[in-house]
Amino acid sequence: MSEMVAKTDEEWKKLLSREEYIVTRKRGTEPPFSGKYYRFEEKGIYRCVACGNRLFSSETKFDSGSGWPSFWAPISEESVGERGDRSYGMNRTEVVCARCGSHLGHVFEDGPPPTGLRYCINSVSLKFVPEDELESEVAIDDRF
Ligand code: FE
Repeated sequence: MSEMVAKTDEEWKKLLSREEYIVTRKRGTEPPFSGKYYRFEEKGIYRCVACGNRLFSSETKFDSGSGWPSFWAPISEESVGERGDRSYGMNRTEVVCARCGSHLGHVFEDGPPPTGLRYCINSVSLKFVPEDELESEVAIDDRF
């Protein structure tokens, strides 16, 4: 699972739904309060919808009131990358999948303890795996 995933734009277009492609590869944003994981409290982990990389755990999910799924930490420091984003006249920090470079959302410094961070993530960029299915995770890794 650790090697990088690199695909051409055309390959991503074929692999992803139109909505997934726009958000993950074109840095789109799903409308607030619309995503399937915004009001969602099941226990498990969230993988990258594009490459399967493990990104976030339900254990760090919280209700930020923002309209997007929010987490106070990624599963590990290696699972996500950050880069400066000055688009739309704002100075924000973009969060990407460290494995395939897909856009996930942004991170802000107004989150809860213990980190004080708020990873504001598009549902579209995520694929939830329930806790009781984590044991069969090997099969999922093989698929990606
Ligand atoms: Fe990825």
